[in-house]
Amino acid sequence: EKLNVVILFGGKSGEHDVSLESAASVYRAIDKDKYNIHTIGIAKNGKWAYCSCGPDEIQSGKWVEHEVEGSKINFIPSQKGSVGIELNDGSLVPVDVCFPVLHGPRGEDGTIQGLFEMAEIPYVGCKVLASSLAMDKIMFKKIMDFEGVPQVDYVYTTRFEFSDDPQGFADIAEERLRYPMFTKPANMGSSVGISKVGSRAELIEGVKNALEYDSKVVVEQGIRAREIEVAVLGNSEVEASVAGEIIPCKDFYDYEAKYLANESKTLIPAGIDKELENTIREMAIKAFKAIDGSGISRIDFFVEHESGTVYLNEINTMPGFTKISMYPKLWEATGVGYRELIDKLIKLAMEK
Ligand code: ATP
Ligand code: MG
Ligand code: MG
Ligand code: MG
Repeated sequence: EKLNVVILFGGKSGEHDVSLESAASVYRAIDKDKYNIHTIGIAKNGKWAYCSCGPDEIQSGKWVEHEVEGSKINFIPSQKGSVGIELNDGSLVPVDVCFPVLHGPRGEDGTIQGLFEMAEIPYVGCKVLASSLAMDKIMFKKIMDFEGVPQVDYVYTTRFEFSDDPQGFADIAEERLRYPMFTKPANMGSSVGISKVGSRAELIEGVKNALEYDSKVVVEQGIRAREIEVAVLGNSEVEASVAGEIIPCKDFYDYEAKYLANESKTLIPAGIDKELENTIREMAIKAFKAIDGSGISRIDFFVEHESGTVYLNEINTMPGFTKISMYPKLWEATGVGYRELIDKLIKLAMEK
């Protein structure tokens, strides 16, 4: 008996295109002898569609032309046994597990996870609380402060507070931090809306730009550091991969350096000694447990050049998942291949 797996992709967030790449990769690699694959796309305008398409159509964006006419997605049960995808003839495709290959707000932030909880459908990845905590950089930092996990210094503001007195906020930031600083939307990913700022004028511009994406903005102390990432896998028993290192082709790892320039490099294992690597792997598990994570996450760190100090940067609860993304590559280097990784994630989803 094959499990019915729904791959969800796209979404309204600024990471729509990244999701298409990740979802196409998952579709290509997933074991079709074990699973029936169904695909639900979410358009940039938020419209959901049950599609009859393969990985090529997902990747190219042509999936929108392949909606199964007359189909209805029933995730909120109106009567017993009605959860699934209803076809034109009234029959129901049952859904055994969802794989939300979605990045950013309304995909990685607990909202869609809440929908699955309501529908009582198992799903890959973190639950509601962990997803929303990891997506909101301000709440995440507060929890990590509470846990005593080292982080760079930061201040934050809201659209309401900032628009009232931008110079007042700049005063607070300059009192606490030195240039360069990083301005970030609290809820986003793929470096969308992030700027490195070197002056008061740039700081104010950077905050304004970040406010285009979210109503809250965090400003961090910019540091010169190596960028180290660890993949974790598991529910109550969590395993950490070997550490990998990002070598951005630009001044920092912005959207272009991540996806467009094609010249950023990854180094696996990272160029750090074993002892430091193990410290970082333990920190990764600690942080993941602190937010009550489950299934999957990629944990990002900085190791400061001058001091060697390790700082936790963030947790991504649905990291980039193409074959060449850091998360699968870290597991590959640790001995878990891409297809096997998908199997494990589905198994963890059913057990959660
Ligand atoms: P993703 O979810 O795709 O990993 P994101 O949008 O959540 O990214 P961050 O990981 O917080 O963004 O930051 C993106 C990049 O900006 C980092 O990988 C790093 O290159 C740079 N960066 C962010 N914060 C700092 C900082 N405080 N000091 C130095 N560099 C930073
Ligand atoms: Mg992130
Ligand atoms: Mg992310
Ligand atoms: Mg990151």
